[in-house]
Amino acid sequence: MEIYIMSSIETISLQISNNGLTPNIERITRDYTRLTHEFGVPDKEAIKVIVTDICKENNITPKKVKPEAQITPTSKLINTKPNDWITFEGKVISVSDNPSKTVTQMGIIADDSAAIKYIIFSKSELPPLEKESWYKIESAVVDEFRGQKNIKIHKGTTITKTESDTSVMPKLCEIGSIEPGITSVQGKITQLWEPFSDKIHQTGLIADESGIIKFVSWKSSNQIPLELHKVYTLYFTNADSWNGKISLNISDALVIENDDVTLDVMNGEKTISGCIVHIQSGSGLIKRCPVEGCNRPLTRQNFCNIHELQPKYKYDLRLRAILDDGHTAHNVLIQCELCEKLFDMTLDKAIDIAESQPLGMSEIEVIITPKIIGQYFTISGRSFEDMFIANSIENTPLDTTKLVTIINSFGVDA
Ligand SMILES: [Zn+2]
Repeated sequence: MEIYIMSSIETISLQISNNGLTPNIERITRDYTRLTHEFGVPDKEAIKVIVTDICKENNITPKKVKPEAQITPTSKLINTKPNDWITFEGKVISVSDNPSKTVTQMGIIADDSAAIKYIIFSKSELPPLEKESWYKIESAVVDEFRGQKNIKIHKGTTITKTESDTSVMPKLCEIGSIEPGITSVQGKITQLWEPFSDKIHQTGLIADESGIIKFVSWKSSNQIPLELHKVYTLYFTNADSWNGKISLNISDALVIENDDVTLDVMNGEKTISGCIVHIQSGSGLIKRCPVEGCNRPLTRQNFCNIHELQPKYKYDLRLRAILDDGHTAHNVLIQCELCEKLFDMTLDKAIDIAESQPLGMSEIEVIITPKIIGQYFTISGRSFEDMFIANSIENTPLDTTKLVTIINSFGVDA
């Protein structure tokens, strides 16, 4: 509040000086406080009244104030806090028009300190902003949603297009210290996963020296696909917070491939060892939905949950199993390439067997079960949601010392 009063008093003082008079700060402060606090006169009006009064007393016609001089001091986006009323100048980075009936436009706007989401409400009757253009935005309100700040543009907001050729160079954030909001990072793609939903274009992990984070891009966005082991800079990506976990939505990000950059990155890989105690259904040879981007496993009757009957399915090998390390039961997922080695059977061979044997696909389960159940494995990979996805798997013959440890651990637990 103190800062707010000071800035208006400074505005008045400046205008008094511009009219060739010496401002009396004490008097201006008294008049301003009385008008705004006792009579509830709005700020802009109070400034005008005081300047006019003082000029009249000195027989001067107040000079017309240039629009710039009326503007309250501009803020830097990085310093904004929820519930702040701010005036700032920024460049529109991306827009999505008509997202809903009550919203004219949503987008991302940036100054040289930070980038932030903005929302223009239909009630404001303000036109949408143009991508790549600069604007001065006066009296917008900072709001917060799921830990992420955004700027609300409402009826009381003034928008003026400005000319600026300044480029907005966002500062890169370390992946280990990302907070919810619009952020820019540089990292290496260390993992790509099959999309778990047909709305997802791509999902995986990106890492730098400081950390590792999940990213996703949505089908609707037409984002370019990122390649494994390549380094990218992702400008203006959206760090979403969900259940306390942060992930990057890169759908609308500006993605630059950095061929010339090498990065030592956090690996994030873990190794678990133990005994496979259970093979879950949907293991062995499975059929997948061939619809572009779907890839869901089909039922035995070739039905996809979403796309119904799919007679032109594609085959895949996978193993979903439970590995017990003596303390924890891990849900592990082993994908085709590793399954071929593990089962000692290529995908083509498995298809051949399934199509020529009376048991069909179940024949594969019959063949692989004794190779897996009760066997000890060391698996390296990464946790994804509640699944441990293997990058490598090794059958580890049990040495007797280990056996003693495991037996002891069972003994203690029982
Ligand atoms: Zn499908």
